[in-house]
Amino acid sequence: MNLSTTTILIIKTIVLRFLFSPATAQASSCSIKEFPVVRNISELPQDDYELGGLSHITIAGSLMHGMKEIEIWLHTYSPGAHTPIHRHSCEEVFVVLKGSGTLFLASSMHEKYPGKPQEFHIFPNSTFYIPVNDAHQVWNTNDHEDLQVLVIISQPPIRAFVYEDWFMPHAAAKLAFPIPWDARCLEAPFKYEL
Ligand SMILES: [Zn+2]
Repeated sequence: MNLSTTTILIIKTIVLRFLFSPATAQASSCSIKEFPVVRNISELPQDDYELGGLSHITIAGSLMHGMKEIEIWLHTYSPGAHTPIHRHSCEEVFVVLKGSGTLFLASSMHEKYPGKPQEFHIFPNSTFYIPVNDAHQVWNTNDHEDLQVLVIISQPPIRAFVYEDWFMPHAAAKLAFPIPWDARCLEAPFKYEL
């Protein structure tokens, strides 16, 4: 198996888990009543959501805490772990707290598919934003260290469109909603009017 086949398999696994994670209701972790003003981040619920290599904490969430305009996550990626290639119509800003890695970004909504992405090195104390609807992927390319990022999105809960590769047509990208941590706060998958 060559590297590209392995990479594609990893991406497919993450995509499938994104798309088919069970929408299990866990009201206790999704209650506004349990949202004190000051909280210790190290005591907040943390989970890998079976995504492999990701540790997720919702610091302030829409479905979890009733936030209206923004949502904030703390993500830690182990070496080699990465997001799926995806796009969304909300704004997204990252702050790199620890580690290093690569941002892949394709600004080609006018084309039929994302195309070959630009690569940006990301490092501690760096920050970057994702232009609305640009396909992107964040990858911990450092073999020796976790990559920890603070992620701020607008217009929660997030609806992401996921690509299997950079040359998959935009129209074929699969809607990932709810994403795993939001699924836990919903009795049933949310229905969006398109
Ligand atoms: Zn994103």
